Amino acid sequence: MCNVQKVASKKGIKIKNSEEVGNINFNRKFQSQKLTLPKNMGFMYETHMHTMESSGCGRNTAEEQVYAYKERGYTGIIITDHFINGYSTCPRYGNVSWREKVGYVVAGYLAAKDAGDNVGLDVFLGWEFTVKGSDLLTYGLDIAFLLDNKDIDKLTVPQYSKVVRNNGGFLAQAHPYRDKPYIEHKFPVKPEFIDAIEVYNASDEIYSTNRANEKADMFAKKHNMPIQAGGDSHGVNDPPSGIILAKKAKNIYDIINAIKNKEVSLII
Ligand SMILES: [Zn+2]
Ligand SMILES: [Zn+2]
Repeated sequence: MCNVQKVASKKGIKIKNSEEVGNINFNRKFQSQKLTLPKNMGFMYETHMHTMESSGCGRNTAEEQVYAYKERGYTGIIITDHFINGYSTCPRYGNVSWREKVGYVVAGYLAAKDAGDNVGLDVFLGWEFTVKGSDLLTYGLDIAFLLDNKDIDKLTVPQYSKVVRNNGGFLAQAHPYRDKPYIEHKFPVKPEFIDAIEVYNASDEIYSTNRANEKADMFAKKHNMPIQAGGDSHGVNDPPSGIILAKKAKNIYDIINAIKNKEVSLII
């Protein structure tokens, strides 16, 4: 029994025989899809996912999410919980200090990182920053950045983009055409403010009634932008997605650069 299986069985979570890693069977609510990644073909990374600790809409703990992705054969995951301007677990009202707010944003990541270190899954910090319904996946920045940038939740897209990039961060717009009543902007932000477009969102693939993924893909093609895919997983029963890298990422910047250089395959 490998380490993952030991830890997982203690938690009552079933892990597939390690021989099966690479053959992934997703039981979707409305469709089922078998994804096969031949051995030595690359390294899978989830680019968009949530935890209960930090996202109000999260349905599983960070630890449970980590086990699920490890079981599916992923090499790493980027935790992108909702920022405090989105559906965060952070209380909207009352006296909450900036330090506490940052704590809410990164709680899921910290728990996931612990679990990932135990089972051998690389866990990276990100977050999903919301401006009037435009959701910007943000990678490459750390907790110190958040602590140093009080009230960034109030920034506009151009302001936020500038701060993120000046600090070496990366921005991808998630599901730019998602059509939900609570979303004001149902179209992408200006390409100059972002580094990539999520052209495949596993959740939109199931629920979208307006061909949201197809439109995002057309937009990316039109503007010749880097692309990525993401599960937007809010729990272990949500279908995963993400990207495949030819080489194992040493850090989040290897993932960022692979996306920017258009060297990723999409898990769709
Ligand atoms: Zn959510
Ligand atoms: Zn999301």
